[in-house]
Amino acid sequence: LSDRLTSVFSSLRSKGRLSDADIDATCREIRIALLEADVSLAVVKDFVARIKERARGAEVSQALNPAQQVVKIVNDELIEILGGETRRLRYAKTPPTVIMLAGLQGSGKTTLAGKLAKWLRDQGHAPLLVACDLQRPNAVQQLSVVAERAEVAVYAPEPGNGVGDPVAVARQSIDHARRQQHDVVIVDTAGRLGIDQELMKQAADIRDAISPDEVLFVVDAMIGQDAVSTAQAFMDGVGFDGVVLTKLDGDARGGAALSVRHVTGRPIMFASTGEKLADFDAFHPDRMAGRILDMGDILTLIEQAQKTFDEEQAAKMAEKLVAGDGFTLDDFLEQMMMVRKMGPIKNLLGMMPGMGQMRDQLNQVDDRDLDRIAAIIRSMTPGERQEPKLINGSRRARIAKGSGVSVTEVSGLVVRFFEAQKMMKRMSQGMGIPGLPGGRN
Ligand code: GDP
Ligand code: MG
Repeated sequence: LSDRLTSVFSSLRSKGRLSDADIDATCREIRIALLEADVSLAVVKDFVARIKERARGAEVSQALNPAQQVVKIVNDELIEILGGETRRLRYAKTPPTVIMLAGLQGSGKTTLAGKLAKWLRDQGHAPLLVACDLQRPNAVQQLSVVAERAEVAVYAPEPGNGVGDPVAVARQSIDHARRQQHDVVIVDTAGRLGIDQELMKQAADIRDAISPDEVLFVVDAMIGQDAVSTAQAFMDGVGFDGVVLTKLDGDARGGAALSVRHVTGRPIMFASTGEKLADFDAFHPDRMAGRILDMGDILTLIEQAQKTFDEEQAAKMAEKLVAGDGFTLDDFLEQMMMVRKMGPIKNLLGMMPGMGQMRDQLNQVDDRDLDRIAAIIRSMTPGERQEPKLINGSRRARIAKGSGVSVTEVSGLVVRFFEAQKMMKRMSQGMGIPGLPGGRN
């Protein structure tokens, strides 16, 4: 896949602007990548349509070539979809917190029960594992072994009493947990290899009996395209609040994650990556996006290109400041835009040498202010931007009209600019641009 993409990229490279044809060509490859990752066709169609829309509306990046830019959009969008609503477990106000696991047989529920129990125990909880899979002969035994390994307690019907009633067991387990001071109860349930109405009803009955705080749908990442119909069936039959993806240690690319998220709207909360208790982690959308796209190298390249570009811009700006009084309103605007593009203002001033002193001033500016400031500056003539002293009363009125703000706002901006300019001058005279010529080290 990566080879194919690389060739598309090289044919796109060095074009200045992203055309519809460019977007289509890249999206065709993205489409194949997603299908190869086992994302269901309907989901792929929706997703690619969304990407095309975003790519068309996107500002042309100076840092990335057009194809890189499309891939970045795809990656960002994937991360957002996969993690848009990532959330932690919800604990009950009054313990015990009840977590119920649902999913097909073999999806990894029992294994997950142990992993989750250990994970919770490590955080100081006292979980109780409850065996409500009374369908398979060895299921109770399996959960007991898992519980022992996780060093947590287990609640199960007495062996040899014939087939127990899982709904009754579930109900009794809650009382048991209260008596024994367990603050989390994890209920393991039965599943069949295929979707089965009787077992679905049993799961729904258990749910009704114990009103879980969380129903987690456990799904094997290897089931590929079937993930959609399975997730849909469990959504309709039992309903669930979150998803756990298992067997991510296999070679499945994990398209199931995107499909399930897209079809059910439920967040993916945990990932299971092996048979051992420790092979378990909270779900990381960025890792999953990279895995689904399978373009690790390209994503790294994009990241580097963006970073280099930002650094070059920052260095250029710093040079200008050091050079002295050449600081104009154009620079002021460019600086603000750059700051915005690079992310939250507070985090980023560190990247710009000497900018620490501007922190307070910039901190007071939010994104909407920035739009207004940009509009004001863009309504000025080039001459005015170079020499703001020219901006007298009548020019202020004209600029205000042109940018749809009040004259007071224009005046406020000009005053602010002069302050910034003064500050720049002071800094350029060697007052604190560490590490730069003219600065103090
Ligand atoms: P259940 O039927 O849903 O309870 O599934 P089990 O927990 O019994 O797991 C079915 C099989 O999958 C067992 O052999 C587990 O060891 C294995 N398994 C579970 N989770 C994982 C995982 O994340 N990775 C791998 N490789 N195997 C797993
Ligand atoms: Mg099981």
